[in-house]
Amino acid sequence: KRKPFVGGNWKCNGKLSGVKELLAAFKGIGADPKSVDVAIFAPTLHIPAAQDCLAGDAAIQLGVQNMSKTGEGAFTGEVSAGQVADCGLKYVLVGHSERRSLYGETDEDCAAKTKADGSHGLTVVFCIGESLAERQSGKTTDVCEKQMKAVIPVISDWSKIVIAYEPVWAIGTGVVATPLQAQDTQYQVRRCIRDECGAEIADSVRIIYGGSANEKNCKAEADSVSELVTPQRSKLIHDMVIHPSTSDALGELPDVDGFLVGGASLKPTFTERIAPIA
Ligand code: 13P
Repeated sequence: KRKPFVGGNWKCNGKLSGVKELLAAFKGIGADPKSVDVAIFAPTLHIPAAQDCLAGDAAIQLGVQNMSKTGEGAFTGEVSAGQVADCGLKYVLVGHSERRSLYGETDEDCAAKTKADGSHGLTVVFCIGESLAERQSGKTTDVCEKQMKAVIPVISDWSKIVIAYEPVWAIGTGVVATPLQAQDTQYQVRRCIRDECGAEIADSVRIIYGGSANEKNCKAEADSVSELVTPQRSKLIHDMVIHPSTSDALGELPDVDGFLVGGASLKPTFTERIAPIA
């Protein structure tokens, strides 16, 4: 069984005061990092405050939403992998569809960024996914394979890779992939990794789902988490992103190892719900 991974991608949202409030509520979440990885991808400027809030709490790790494909140097506005690691962060998102579509990042850029991590030891959460037009024309598997094959050659340590399948049409739209769509695509992604890299890597790499994921459509992660933590704290985790409610929930699928959550990871109700427990 692969260890579940739940990420909250806050994107370019929130004020410093809101970050502190939210993380103060999350602190002491009680998840066992040996059994579940929880990561918050905060805006880079908010990272030091987030670190202060989470000090001494290993249950939630922090990551950045983007990084440079270069090392240090005269690259105005960039943040290098070495700097991210030096500041004590564990995770980085690479290839998010918003970076690809709004900032023109190519498959080659994604590969360069993944490679830039090199010996710095960050875990790269590598995002892939098709547009609506690509899905409607039956190209989903081809698109995901192409995106995967662009980075596979530069990956040296697969234990430091998480794949996030985020269909573009599901991001921020409220239209979540059906369990069949998520499972089928993620099965194909794993099959591609198996073909390219062998069964051992394919069976161990985590492939998570993102795109309008919320407390209603994610289930099994909550079940596995609740075995690990006290009832009160497991409720906290349920309420965060992974509350059970439907029988055909995405988290029950064999090739869905967790979630990358956008909007639902910073809803006001999120804080309100967990504040009394924290
Ligand atoms: P939403 O959960 O808001 O659809 O965003 C998903 C996402 O882009 C996570 O990276």
